[in-house]
Amino acid sequence: MVNSILKCPVCGNEYDINRVKYTCDNCGNILDVIHPDMEYSLTKMKGVWKYKNMIHPAINQNDIITKMEGDTNLYRSSRISEFTGIKNISLKHEGENPTGSFKDRGMTVAVSEANRLKYKKTLCASTGNTSAAAASYSAFAGIESYVMIPEKNVSANKLFQAIAYGAKIVNIEGDFDNAMKSVKDVVSHSNNFYLLNSLNPWRIEGQKTIIYEIMEKESPDFISFPAGNLGNTSAFGKALMDLKSLGIINKIPRLVAIQAEGASPFYNYIKNKAENIIPVHAETVASAIKIGNPVNFKKARRAIEFTDGIVEKVSDDEILKSKVEIDRAGIGCEPASAAAVAGIKKLKDNGIIDKSDNVVSILTGNILKDVSIIPPYKELKLSEIL
Ligand SMILES: *Cc1c(COP(=O)(O)O)cnc(C)c1O
Ligand SMILES: [Zn+2]
Repeated sequence: MVNSILKCPVCGNEYDINRVKYTCDNCGNILDVIHPDMEYSLTKMKGVWKYKNMIHPAINQNDIITKMEGDTNLYRSSRISEFTGIKNISLKHEGENPTGSFKDRGMTVAVSEANRLKYKKTLCASTGNTSAAAASYSAFAGIESYVMIPEKNVSANKLFQAIAYGAKIVNIEGDFDNAMKSVKDVVSHSNNFYLLNSLNPWRIEGQKTIIYEIMEKESPDFISFPAGNLGNTSAFGKALMDLKSLGIINKIPRLVAIQAEGASPFYNYIKNKAENIIPVHAETVASAIKIGNPVNFKKARRAIEFTDGIVEKVSDDEILKSKVEIDRAGIGCEPASAAAVAGIKKLKDNGIIDKSDNVVSILTGNILKDVSIIPPYKELKLSEIL
């Protein structure tokens, strides 16, 4: 079995996977994991690791840390078809993963890698779903996890899982960008911590499996999803490149990355064909995509170009209206996830997607992840229902 390598997508420099690296020595870009001689052969394992030969072929079975993540369901609903105007739309529910979001798919691979490399500590900056997954998988592996949080703008609600799973919480002065900078400083000064932020290329490998699963069951014209730090955008493009180069698929579905209007630097970057992304001050109700300076923008552009993809933005109002429909359909999701469906409705209304197209939208997180936004409702008296 040939070992995987780390490769710079910009200058092509290569690095041994046993030399832990997140960015290129030569040009500073985030690295890719490449598997020479990759084969599309499935293992007997379940979920993400069914695709072991495409995500981490050389890892020893005993080093894998898994909670049987992946293998999530696709739902069809006449209510969602009516809402979007698309007859053939299905929703893939990533909220069904062990900690309630797709982040588990990346984390099982990254924490397995931490385990393979015999790390005793993991580190990430996050106040949301990344920290929940990092804390859970690290604890499950018997590895200590550290989560850096900015002192400002942190709700206990979002941090609850990380604390409950026993992560050590480190307070950082300033905002999320300061926390992210601290994390990078720590790993550049100390070899004791394994970094689990989106700079980690192994997370992308795990997240590719969302697309492998979809393509086994459907042949969509469009695949939509909310886009924040652009890890999924990057992973989905890479997965489709894998399947195309291995001859598993002929037709490539168009990726549809949806940003919130108040946090849409990638939308601007693609629309303006810009050289670099211009960071913005992010504001949106969809906290999981409230990101003003996404790290993965170059890999994400590659994904949009390869799939003739679309980047669209939707307002908070459109996101919340779409969430009500998904929730009332009995499916349910966290606010950011609803952007995936809101974007499809907008593109259908604008004539870019046709009512007869086959669409898969990815619901990235569980309805219980954010309970702060409750739609208005009326309490009934017992006498009123008789
Ligand atoms: C992380 C996250 C996103 C954003 O995904 P990116 O890969 O960062 O673009 C969207 N929705 C939920 C629920 C998330 O946890
Ligand atoms: Zn480089």
